[in-house]
Amino acid sequence: ETQSAPNFVLNQIREELEAGRAEKVVTRFPPEPNGFLHIGHAKSICLNFGLAQQLGGDCHLRFDDTNPAKEEQAYIDAIKEDVEWLGFEWAGKVRFASDYFDQLYAWAQHLVREGKAYVDDLSPDEIREYRGTLREPGRPSPYRERSPEENLDLLERMRKGEFGESEKVLRARIDMAAPNINLRDPILYRIRHASHHQTGDKWKIYPSYDFTHGQSDALEGVTHSICTLEFEDHRPLYEWFLANLPVPCTPRQIEFARLNLDYTVTSKRKLKLLVDQGVVNGWDDPRMPTISGMRRRGYTSASIRKFCDMVGVSRADGGMVELGMLNHAIRSDLEDNALRAMCVLNPLKVVLTNLPEGHEELFEVPGHPARDDMGTRQVPLTRELWIDAEDFMEDAPKKFFRLAPEKEVRLRNGYVIRCDEVIKDEAGEVIELRCSVDLDTLGKNPEGRKVKGVIHWVSAVHAVPIEVRQYENLFLEAEPDRDKDVDFLDHLNPESLSVVQGYGEPSLRNAEPETRYQFERIGYFVADRHDCTSGALVFNRTVSLKDGWAK
Ligand code: ATP
Ligand code: MG
Ligand code: MG
Repeated sequence: ETQSAPNFVLNQIREELEAGRAEKVVTRFPPEPNGFLHIGHAKSICLNFGLAQQLGGDCHLRFDDTNPAKEEQAYIDAIKEDVEWLGFEWAGKVRFASDYFDQLYAWAQHLVREGKAYVDDLSPDEIREYRGTLREPGRPSPYRERSPEENLDLLERMRKGEFGESEKVLRARIDMAAPNINLRDPILYRIRHASHHQTGDKWKIYPSYDFTHGQSDALEGVTHSICTLEFEDHRPLYEWFLANLPVPCTPRQIEFARLNLDYTVTSKRKLKLLVDQGVVNGWDDPRMPTISGMRRRGYTSASIRKFCDMVGVSRADGGMVELGMLNHAIRSDLEDNALRAMCVLNPLKVVLTNLPEGHEELFEVPGHPARDDMGTRQVPLTRELWIDAEDFMEDAPKKFFRLAPEKEVRLRNGYVIRCDEVIKDEAGEVIELRCSVDLDTLGKNPEGRKVKGVIHWVSAVHAVPIEVRQYENLFLEAEPDRDKDVDFLDHLNPESLSVVQGYGEPSLRNAEPETRYQFERIGYFVADRHDCTSGALVFNRTVSLKDGWAK
């Protein structure tokens, strides 16, 4: 596998290392365990872990778990599995911001003692109102001048659970007139009478994201704290905490543009809505842009890493990335690495009239046309076959190179056959084709004529029944959540899933979950991770065969 492309963060850190300003780079990936990871997170994972790999440093996995009401152990487990599946290894143990709650509390007391934090009794609405707007400065809270002694006492009583949830908060005392609203006395602690998945009932107050993030970075020796551009305005605050607390080191925040993918929503809140409303079958539904959904859909981790690399990392908001780019990455991986098999999804019977009843012939065919290491498979030919109904046309135009009355076509990996007779039912539906085999055409052209078309087929007696789940985009709009006045759910594609029952060649009988195939002439498929068993074969369509995306 190729090394990822350079990017501005890599270049910047490399310069620092070369100038001796840093010894070893330490990054972190800091998900909040309030949902499953999605393709946007994959970009952040590839960047943070990739930097550590390329620069000989470490990348930590740290759960940013300061909001117990929305977090769950199940999300923690899923996130760890996804990061590992993507092919990355975090340095040391899994870390939690909640590991630092004691230290953060001590630092909050430190700020109070220094007159740099105070307990405020304003309600959340009042705090918002007092904070002002971009055009007008904020006003100080009437509680801003409380003494350090009073504040220390109130903070301690907040911690013990003496007050209700929105009765009090702890705020930093910075500057109510600061042009950057994030510096207008930001909230450090909120009261939450909630049980926490890591700390149980120990805490009745929880630190804010801003008060937690940089200090956690500093405690872990993170050198570069890489986040998305919406945190650019928080950087002065990030730096204010580091400058005003006795932290062991001073990490640096660097922002990059988040990934936006067309026909996709990448917000855990919205993805959770899809799950909760039953629009999809869980977080790992193959239509979901979650890592686990993409895995179940048949994407390889290498293709996701490749995609992130193709997208690149920049500080300029990159706009919308085309889903076609992601499909291109997975197609080229599967083209090179997926086993081949023949399947018929819309079966039409073909009887080869010049083969005797009970005729059986085995073709040994490569697992992959260019990969000897992928072995061979046995494909049986018998008197009765299934072909796809789309490969036959009764009144075929001249350019139709598949099967038609009195026309010839090659059975893939087998002989040339000719359609002699078309059998219909009472309603006039074609139900069977009677064909003859030219036995002198195995691996060679027929005498005196050209046969252009090749079709896939399956021996009827050997065919294994398969369920095939065909997926389309979940949304019909390229930017489903662009218009704030329209519910993104109004753009759902009602036909994002269709299930068909078909027939596969016998080599599919023992398809192990997560084995990937090219069903020849149809597309790329994967044996479903959860539902595919030897008794009930289930395949998900990963992506169609053709690549419409060009660079
Ligand atoms: P969401 O809005 O989906 O909940 P988030 O940023 O709140 O996303 P976190 O769990 O806090 O989710 O994210 C962990 C890391 O992943 C953060 O550093 C965040 O910046 C990054 N990240 C999240 N979404 C994207 C995205 N679309 N592109 C790049 N990085 C992202
Ligand atoms: Mg976040
Ligand atoms: Mg979030």
